[in-house]
Amino acid sequence: MKRKPKPRGKTPGSQEVKDNIKALRLDGLTNKEIGRIVGRATATVSRISKSLGMDIKRARRVIEIKGNKGKCSKCGKWRPIDSFRGGRYRLGKPTSLSYCKYCLNLQVRLNLGNNLQAHLRRNLWGLKNRCVKKEIPFNLTLEYVTDLLLLKQKGKCFYTDLNFDLSRGWKPYCITFDKVIPSLGYIQGNIVICTRKANSCKNDLTLGEISAWMPGFYKRIKECPWLTFVKI
Ligand SMILES: [Zn+2]
Repeated sequence: MKRKPKPRGKTPGSQEVKDNIKALRLDGLTNKEIGRIVGRATATVSRISKSLGMDIKRARRVIEIKGNKGKCSKCGKWRPIDSFRGGRYRLGKPTSLSYCKYCLNLQVRLNLGNNLQAHLRRNLWGLKNRCVKKEIPFNLTLEYVTDLLLLKQKGKCFYTDLNFDLSRGWKPYCITFDKVIPSLGYIQGNIVICTRKANSCKNDLTLGEISAWMPGFYKRIKECPWLTFVKI
């Protein structure tokens, strides 16, 4: 899917919006904060301020520094300079981001939340890309998998009934999608959501192999009402 290139050189927003942004920028607010105030997206604010020739690096909040310590603008603690990661796009420049790494991690976790749907969306997006590359059939939607996980599976792993680990990263108990009959791919009626560990146990076993080697898993597949491709 290709996006249409946006026309360059033009910036959305009236003179009034530009003036507002200019004033707020001089106050030292971040793009995000300005965007909230003037009702524009962060990226739009960034584009407008670039067109106004205002230095974005200067406008970012800057940490106070004393000796080799800096003050976090979120928790207010003084921490060694290397605790400041320097922002997502400006690694190695400690003065460009005002959060310490602890606050940053906390923020990342908060943003992702213990929010199942956010996890599902991330996982689904990655899966879709992999399927397109490897030409594996795929027709899952966010609505379908959300309904599957929250309503049908009650938010738990299909094979083990365990709760998912919603911390960041490729954890043993993170959310994965399992194609029950591997050859059919990730299509509706052929998938369940399970932990990574359960998924790697099951791997690409055929139904015959599962019935012989993993009777517990087999029973669940056999009794599952939404796996429409499983004919036993
Ligand atoms: Zn902090």
